Amino acid sequence: MTEVLYDRAALLDPEAGTVTAGQRVLVRGGEVAAVGADVEAPEGARVVDLAGRTLMPGLVDCHVHVNAHSADLSGMSDQSPAYIAATAAVELRAMLHRGFTTVRDPGGADFGIHDAVAEGLIDGPRIHYGGKALSQTGGHTDMRPRGRGVRDDHHCCPDMGVVCDGVDEVRRAAREQLRTGAHHVKVMLSGGVASPTDRIDSTQFSTEEIRAIVEEAEAANRYVAGHAYTARAINRGLAAGVRSIEHGNLLDESSVELFLEHGAFLVPTLVTYRRMAVEGAEYGLPEGSLRKNALVLDAGLRALELAHEAGVNLCYGSDLLGGMRRHQLEEFRIRGAVLPAVDVVRSATVTAARLLGEEGRIGRIAPGALADMLVVDGNPLEDLAVLTDPDTHLKLVVQGGEAKVDRLSRA
Ligand SMILES: [Zn+2]
Repeated sequence: MTEVLYDRAALLDPEAGTVTAGQRVLVRGGEVAAVGADVEAPEGARVVDLAGRTLMPGLVDCHVHVNAHSADLSGMSDQSPAYIAATAAVELRAMLHRGFTTVRDPGGADFGIHDAVAEGLIDGPRIHYGGKALSQTGGHTDMRPRGRGVRDDHHCCPDMGVVCDGVDEVRRAAREQLRTGAHHVKVMLSGGVASPTDRIDSTQFSTEEIRAIVEEAEAANRYVAGHAYTARAINRGLAAGVRSIEHGNLLDESSVELFLEHGAFLVPTLVTYRRMAVEGAEYGLPEGSLRKNALVLDAGLRALELAHEAGVNLCYGSDLLGGMRRHQLEEFRIRGAVLPAVDVVRSATVTAARLLGEEGRIGRIAPGALADMLVVDGNPLEDLAVLTDPDTHLKLVVQGGEAKVDRLSRA
């Protein structure tokens, strides 16, 4: 098995919130074998001199849509899945080059794109996928315009979601996603920005339906991720056992209490509202969606501060669509304006690993972890800009022990 010793690293430990100089990290095959100041270089090991640069765990984005090559999600359902897969391959590679070694896709990505990355056919972050998101009729992934009655639910329709109503149908829909190997089940608990007919302040699915979905996920030892904006929608989900709330822009103190009580996770995605306001129209976002975007844009930062102060588990999310996905790292800058840098880094490493059930495997550089690591110039705990400008600062991306981006040798 190949062995590589990373020497003279300033090692960033997000759990402890420290950067320690003069560390050595031994990688054997795809895993971290040893970490410390006096790790010996085994015979035949390749030595990579990091010369004081920061070595940190690869980043985790808990909310991406690898299939969403356009912000016009309704239009996507009429496209060829082959075309969608090709666009996803391009974006996955770009994500890896930004420093993301794992992503979670709660809407769209399926076992096919997951397997393609896992088998090495495509370069990209490891994928945790939910398959198709569950939506009620007229809910957030019911992309029909008002005047259309029929829906094409063919398996090969590259749609972000399925429409299901009633306890029996939602159970079957959850089981359908789980049978494909989904890591979680995504459920739409409220209206959203990109959908044509629902209201942001609606609640979606009955409590009985949400409970049934949670029951199915838990039976498979999986969990439910719920899309929600208002406190009313968030609280219904949390009370029914939803483990992560996506977006959460309009949460309040009562929601914060429920997050803490259930040990649930919040995945804010502030950058997507910023970018949709600036360039959404250019990338296909319909007029009605632009109006809805304004309703959640400003509230998001206040929600983040409120949740952080109370100690809610926070995870990094971007949720960008189409060409706006190039701003995936901007969420660091947005959160860094109101939160300590170390907490923002934790959201994209250790806390994300906990949400994904990958604690000890990703999000930290420690013996037994996958060798998913970044080398950056500068200290992200002092300045998050070190992460947001990869062209300047990101020198090396290692995934499963393999160098996927290498600007070190060129330097
Ligand atoms: Zn999303």
